[in-house]
Amino acid sequence: MSAIQGKVVAITGASSGIGEAAARLLASRGAQVVLGARREDRLEKLAAEIAADGGTAICQKLDVTKREQMEAFVRTACDRFGRIDVLLNNAGIMPLSPLESLKVEEWDRMIDVNVRGVLYGIAAGLPVMKKQGYGHFVNIASIGAYSVTPSATVYCATKYAVRAISDGLRKEVGSDIRVTQVSPGVTESELADSITDEGARQFMKEYRRISIPASSIAQAILFAIEQPPEVDVNEIIVRPTASA
Ligand code: NDP
Repeated sequence: MSAIQGKVVAITGASSGIGEAAARLLASRGAQVVLGARREDRLEKLAAEIAADGGTAICQKLDVTKREQMEAFVRTACDRFGRIDVLLNNAGIMPLSPLESLKVEEWDRMIDVNVRGVLYGIAAGLPVMKKQGYGHFVNIASIGAYSVTPSATVYCATKYAVRAISDGLRKEVGSDIRVTQVSPGVTESELADSITDEGARQFMKEYRRISIPASSIAQAILFAIEQPPEVDVNEIIVRPTASA
């Protein structure tokens, strides 16, 4: 039997890229997945495909910047399956630009989704996991959580924050609850589609040529989740061989 058979895994940002790949892989290994994102049509299609392959998936429209929606998302998982084993805080956006372009509205949105969204996930999941006496947060950071690239300053700042939050969360509640930070390098997804700055868009187009499949990151997530309860995988960095 798979080590994650029956685990209840709630995934934010499950409508594309890494979240979608994780949903497919984890469900194929027997996890019961709860899919959240704003594009409900995508989620419904994905849930139907997982079910057609013999898996278990439900979905719920979710904007992670709305605390009440994050609370409702976790509540739905608990109402349907009686518990939550893993919350995969994956939703993120990356509208890159140099600071001097002053795209302040894009800075705000990155902070809202990439930082506040993760914190709202913790706020919703932590009381449930504390009550259960177990649980696992898997937070998606980035290689941008370790060093800053020009034009990615604000994005990297949000990912440094995810790293700090993951580290602090583990130090505070790590004796009951596992915390894993997964940091991808450049990976195939829709992440770069939101870039409005022409220079950053061109740079990323070139840079993303070496992207690895989203399924490679899903494998890292699976590895962390399938470990026995006494094993907490703290951090995993996965990047294209060509970027080393
Ligand atoms: P995608 O753009 O393909 O996926 C991002 C997901 O986040 C989508 O499902 C999107 O769904 C969701 N999302 C965005 N805003 C919100 C919101 N307000 N509420 C709920 N969901 C939201 O990109 P990736 O799969 O690449 O991104 C996943 C994570 O991986 C992100 O945190 C990203 O920063 C990180 N990452 C990705 C890398 C890469 O090269 N791809 C490298 C390093 C880190 P919807 O629009 O339907 O809401």
